[in-house]
Amino acid sequence: MHNSKIIIAIDGYSSCGKSTLAKALAAKLGYHFIDSGAMYRAITLYFLQNSVDLKDHSAILTALADIHLSFVFNEGRQQSDIYLNNENVEHLIREMLVAERVSEVAAIKEVRSFAVAQQKKMGKKKGIVMDGRDIGTVVFPEAELKLFMTASPEIRVKRRFEELYISNPNISLEEVKHNIELRDYLDTTREESPLRQADDAIVLDNSQLSREEQLEKVLELVKERQHD
Ligand code: C5P
Repeated sequence: MHNSKIIIAIDGYSSCGKSTLAKALAAKLGYHFIDSGAMYRAITLYFLQNSVDLKDHSAILTALADIHLSFVFNEGRQQSDIYLNNENVEHLIREMLVAERVSEVAAIKEVRSFAVAQQKKMGKKKGIVMDGRDIGTVVFPEAELKLFMTASPEIRVKRRFEELYISNPNISLEEVKHNIELRDYLDTTREESPLRQADDAIVLDNSQLSREEQLEKVLELVKERQHD
């Protein structure tokens, strides 16, 4: 038996700790970690910068044709930064202005086809951990391991608040709570690949376990699936 590379799909609501787990898993396994949400955020940033009318399908297609997204590994962060047309936008896409519009943009059919086509290509060689909303259901329905993460609303708001507070001390807990609730609502009710748990996904409740315990548990699941 030899260890074969697999695809790990992690889905769930906003701020459940998907990226944190995905990053730790990728580091441990020597896999690539792709934050698919960063792609939707970068597209949203481009749409905002270029005042693209979200109701104008031909304007959307023209804009998408001008968007080039790439991931470049950042040694300091030990994680890839996302580049929009060769500019590092990793910080810009985390701002509230983008968070407020991203779910609306991600609900657009053309936007999803554009992002999903690139995501599928990234999985060709396996050895990848991707987190998002539709990874186990649409992007990699064939993934060997699918996780669906949940956490209590209080923990999720606290997590995101602490993350955002570092770069924006004016942010309020209320504002963060509202944004998370709104994104969850839009992400689960949209017509195009709404957020839902894949039938064969394993549910991980992030409120119960420490990061280390969680990583250990998932590494066990990976081991079971890695052998040919
Ligand atoms: O993961 P993150 O919270 O950064 O994602 C930002 C937004 O991008 C989500 O709220 C969702 O609207 C969208 N998204 C998506 N499908 C994915 C990843 C993210 O629709 N696979």
